[in-house]
Amino acid sequence: MTRIMSLLLTTIPAGHGKALRLKAGQAVRLINTHGTQVVDCWAWNAHDLDEHMSMEASRVWSQRLNPIIGDSFVSTYRNPVLTLVEDTSPGIHDTFMAACDCHRYRRLGVAGYHRNCLDNMFEGLAEIGLTAPRPILASFNIFMNIAVQADGRSLKTAPTPGRAGDYISLRADMDCVVAFSACPQDIVPIQGGAANIPRDVHYGVIEDSFPAIPPSQPWVP
Ligand SMILES: [Zn+2]
Repeated sequence: MTRIMSLLLTTIPAGHGKALRLKAGQAVRLINTHGTQVVDCWAWNAHDLDEHMSMEASRVWSQRLNPIIGDSFVSTYRNPVLTLVEDTSPGIHDTFMAACDCHRYRRLGVAGYHRNCLDNMFEGLAEIGLTAPRPILASFNIFMNIAVQADGRSLKTAPTPGRAGDYISLRADMDCVVAFSACPQDIVPIQGGAANIPRDVHYGVIEDSFPAIPPSQPWVP
């Protein structure tokens, strides 16, 4: 509790992105300030932006559709990048759905520009002087509610069940760069609340080394 009181919080404005650097052992706490917002997340090896957090490789690593505390996300080179070390939310996140991009909004009937998570990823990195080598559609979609249906193969998109003040913390397993996008989606109802309106969220970096926690389960080869 003392940690959160001392955290210096940065605002991610609704529909926009931010990026930050973490040293190995530091953690970032992402706060769903209003409880209604879905936040896309990416990460890269700070020393080699060609190596980035991979949802597909992470599902192989954790043998899980969505992470629980103690699960690590691994990179395209199968190295742990971030570990989920705290989660006060209902634990509903998503690793399946592509980040929204300009093409998604065109298909949704939007004429002209609509802010989108993929552009936010680039904008967030640009703000700290970095350029991602490539677009990454496979984001970790924090607080996003994509439920596997009873048939075991179908997915259902629903509003996030988040509560105001929910947070998750991600501990850096390597020096890394993390980008967040407070998803601008306001057409498909994924944000919480009836209005489906994107809202601000906040993050704070836990500068002191966050204690490593045991893996949720032994690694399955
Ligand atoms: Zn989005």
